[in-house]
Amino acid sequence: MSEATEAGIDDDLAGLIAGLLRDVPDFPQPGIGFKDITPLLADGPAFDAVIHGLARSAGEGVDVVAGVEARGFLIAGALARQLGCGVLPVRKVGKLPPPTLRRSYDLEYGSAEIEIPAGVLTGRRVLLVDDVLATGGTLRAAAELLAEAGATVVGMAVIVELGFLSGRTALAGLPPLDALLTV
Ligand code: AMP
Repeated sequence: MSEATEAGIDDDLAGLIAGLLRDVPDFPQPGIGFKDITPLLADGPAFDAVIHGLARSAGEGVDVVAGVEARGFLIAGALARQLGCGVLPVRKVGKLPPPTLRRSYDLEYGSAEIEIPAGVLTGRRVLLVDDVLATGGTLRAAAELLAEAGATVVGMAVIVELGFLSGRTALAGLPPLDALLTV
């Protein structure tokens, strides 16, 4: 595919996503502009286009797609199937049976702790996905946790990047991030 054609597809996809995103002011707390992707996920052709868009940017050599709880699970499962690789949940603390590895981090609103299974990722090449990049704390913590578990994080991908929060700065030094739409 030519670069011009690819750029055209990327622009079309970004427009499709933008048209199906719902902005929810003051959720889950005052001052937060929540980007609701449920209308996008509920639209079959749009969801298909999103998964194909993420698969295009994934490149070769991914063994496992890791998705961040909970909306990241929906993306990771479909993307893993598209790429023909495995899937791994990055979960909130207390949901996975031991042994696990865990890490706490700061969010745009509050703080959180995530956990992954220990012992299944050694030597695996992992693509890390989530729905929204806000401050970048979640993806940084997840990428560091995956590395601690022995995985090689080969890339990260989100549907929407909140550019005004400069989350990419928090991801400096980590593998490249692809965002299908930046707002
Ligand atoms: P952060 O760690 O700040 O990049 O936050 C990213 C995580 O929190 C993702 O799992 C998102 O689902 C969620 N999140 C944070 N801010 C928003 C927002 N404004 N709209 C939708 N989801 C958000």
